[in-house]
Amino acid sequence: MTRITRLDAPLVVGSGVAGLTVALGLPRVYVISPPDMGSTWWAQGGIAVAWSSDDSPRQHADDTLAVSGGLGVEQIVEILTKGGPAAVENLIALGAQFDRDPDGELLLAREGGHRTRRVLHADGDATGAEVMRALLAAVESDDRIVTIPRRVLDLVMIGDRVTGVVTSEGKKREVLLAPAVVLATGGAGRLYSHTTNPPAVTGEGIAMAGRAGARLADMEFVQFHPTALDVGKDPMPLLTEALRGDGAILVDAHGRRFMPQYHPMAELAPRDIVARAIFWQYDRGLGGAYLDASSIIDFAGRFPTVNAHAHSVGLDPSEHLLPVSPAAHYYMGGIDADVNGRTSVPGLWAVGECSSTGVHGANRLASNSLLEGLVFGARVSADVSVSMVEPMGEPIAPKEAFDLPLVAGPALEDLRQIMWDRVGLVRTGPGLWEARNSLLELETVLRRTVAGRVAVELSLMVTLAALRRSESRGGHYRADYPEPDPMQEHRTLIDPARAQMTGVS
Ligand SMILES: Cc1cc2nc3c(=O)[nH]c(=O)nc-3n(C[C@H](O)[C@H](O)[C@H](O)COP(=O)(O)OP(=O)(O)OC[C@H]3O[C@@H](n4cnc5c(N)ncnc54)[C@H](O)[C@@H]3O)c2cc1C
Repeated sequence: MTRITRLDAPLVVGSGVAGLTVALGLPRVYVISPPDMGSTWWAQGGIAVAWSSDDSPRQHADDTLAVSGGLGVEQIVEILTKGGPAAVENLIALGAQFDRDPDGELLLAREGGHRTRRVLHADGDATGAEVMRALLAAVESDDRIVTIPRRVLDLVMIGDRVTGVVTSEGKKREVLLAPAVVLATGGAGRLYSHTTNPPAVTGEGIAMAGRAGARLADMEFVQFHPTALDVGKDPMPLLTEALRGDGAILVDAHGRRFMPQYHPMAELAPRDIVARAIFWQYDRGLGGAYLDASSIIDFAGRFPTVNAHAHSVGLDPSEHLLPVSPAAHYYMGGIDADVNGRTSVPGLWAVGECSSTGVHGANRLASNSLLEGLVFGARVSADVSVSMVEPMGEPIAPKEAFDLPLVAGPALEDLRQIMWDRVGLVRTGPGLWEARNSLLELETVLRRTVAGRVAVELSLMVTLAALRRSESRGGHYRADYPEPDPMQEHRTLIDPARAQMTGVS
């Protein structure tokens, strides 16, 4: 018999910037999340916001749309950029401390794709940790918020409505029923062998929403960060874009600068362009790629996190060139959600990196995603608080949620390598077919565990969406179709067939 518990308030799954912001806006709420840290903790560069007197939400929106490959949805982008200053003020009111100049004014950095200095940061390059510190302090002092340290394995339905979740605590499974479920489970960077994302960022929320029949969107669009420190670590330490904003340049093994040949904005060109340039430096045997940050004054003070990563492998950024590689970093695809986080399935909301609202289109502007969690998190709370429905009827959930062991075997590493080699930042039709076939060969083995099932379901969707998009746009680059095709300037929507569901008993 599976234990079933009825909760008297909405359930938020995930405790990054998006989940905690939702929780803080609700009159009473349960937050369920394992103790592992999501991406928010690791965010370095900062939060993009139109803060200075020579900037405006309109200009921020224009920059966001300019890099979105034609797929950014203007109405949604405007909600983000107009809501930015108030969202940041709220965070400061909660106690978040951002770096300031001697006059007490907030310091603003410039990052790729931004026309001006607009990125708030904390402790130099430890912005995410400061955001989490402030949000967690607020959550812990608020007795309306109950935290449950468990992993969610699947969604529970009554009829066509999401009414709860199946949770795991070791081998024990329990069903929690709730009047609303919000997924804030983060992105899917762990599908790739080269990623900056921590181990918790596996895409589980996206996969479970798909299994419950929720519409998914833009699954082919993965953002590859150009500059991860390439020293054999997993996850790969990020070398924040702000380094290039502060004057670091990209050079080959002989110290020759190469970005001006690729784009007029050189090192500050949009991420996909810089990432591909670095890829070609290796692929075409042009002498590799290194970040030369030796011109940055007070490196250790300005970028303590990067400094520590570099020193841990014997590199001193003020003296040595830092070897770089692109790495999967941010997922523009995910659960299709509207301006209030509503998904296509009643009872289910999605917010933050697991959602796909069109705010980033085919490519995210640097430092827009912490802001997304803050702005859309608040909107989700407002919507959920007027839309709750008590679960009535017989709950059903996928059978596998109760049967499968959690941890995947070595086949998961094979999958991650296939995704990097064939579904990475330079894709081709034949390579994508090969990936599809190799994934299908691994599917039976992978489906024997919770983690493997999630990875193979999502990887196949990313691969098939990438095959279908026979053009290049934003984060999706096809070497066999290197230009955008105006006929394909639309989002990709997937309505996954409902997986087999079974009664909870
Ligand atoms: C190294 C790095 C640097 C970055 N720098 C920046 C930056 O400077 N500025 C910026 O805007 N963005 C940055 N990003 C991106 C940004 O951090 C993320 O997009 C954002 O933090 C996502 O927030 P989130 O709340 O949606 O998800 P996350 O912060 O990833 O949180 C997801 C939560 O869901 C939980 N979870 C996952 N699966 C389950 C499950 N099955 N059951 C229960 N809980 C689950 C996780 O444990 C975690 O608590 C960076 C990302 C990385 C990896």
